[in-house]
Amino acid sequence: MLEHGICFYNGNLCSCCYAPLKYAPYIFPYYNGEIVNIDALFLKINRWRNDAKNNHYLRSCQNCHQLETRDWADDNYIDQVYITHFYKCNANCIYCINDIKPSDKVRDTYDIIPILDNLKDKGVLKKGFELHIGGGEFTIYKESDAIIEKYVLSGFSSRIAIATNGIKFSKSIFNAMQENRACIIISLDSGNRNLYKKIKRVDCFDNVINNIKLYSSTVHSKDNTFLKYIVLPKINDNKKYFKQFLDIALDCSIKGIKIDIDGIYCRQKNYNIDEELLDFMKWSVDCSLEKGFDVETFSFYNQCFSMK
Ligand code: SF4
Repeated sequence: MLEHGICFYNGNLCSCCYAPLKYAPYIFPYYNGEIVNIDALFLKINRWRNDAKNNHYLRSCQNCHQLETRDWADDNYIDQVYITHFYKCNANCIYCINDIKPSDKVRDTYDIIPILDNLKDKGVLKKGFELHIGGGEFTIYKESDAIIEKYVLSGFSSRIAIATNGIKFSKSIFNAMQENRACIIISLDSGNRNLYKKIKRVDCFDNVINNIKLYSSTVHSKDNTFLKYIVLPKINDNKKYFKQFLDIALDCSIKGIKIDIDGIYCRQKNYNIDEELLDFMKWSVDCSLEKGFDVETFSFYNQCFSMK
């Protein structure tokens, strides 16, 4: 994302949503919803490009499993936007990377639409751009319906990928999925109510299953409804639990499974995780494939294996 990406956090503006270390590629290290200064934005991006052409890489990008050798573009535009500046959430997962004070979890945040509108009006935001949503929980974010209406259903973005916990059903997301303009990734992390409650610290398992069934009833659901299993050492790294999760996926007519590992744990271990856990991760992928699912592994998982 270094060339054409922009990532909105609460407190800073970044170029990328993933960095293996605690450093990040900050465009503006202090940022709280101001209209983006286009000249300053591309001054920074072009400096990174030139440094990289001269083999000087950002510290935050070193060892990143996504680094690859390609020619750098010279054009100044944004075609990937990641929105994750909101913390409000109706779950309370034990692995939440937004490890913040409870007061922050209910704190309001800046409006994103005026910022996107300005980038669009200035010709910086490219038609057909990709939109990715983190959070917090998007279905309870104040601008979620408006973002989908204005940027997704209008056809200005190519697609929106939303990480949601699935506790609240969103008609807007459902509509965008019907048009094949949205995909959702629901982190279920479990296949039974008790384990779900232990991990998410809310008692919403049955409700989420109902919502998954609603979302997976859209026409393109094989391509746009995904379930995720974040492996939590000593909590759900268990074959029986994982098979229960796959049974639920099957019952909900899900085709695509995403697998990752707890990011906080990975960072604590500097991505050097135990062989036993790595074996479980590999097994979870093989088991899913054997049962006919499409499988994708995520950032922390890939980072661990790339550092072996
Ligand atoms: S659903 Fe996401 S944002 Fe909400 S508590 Fe869980 S990990 Fe954090």
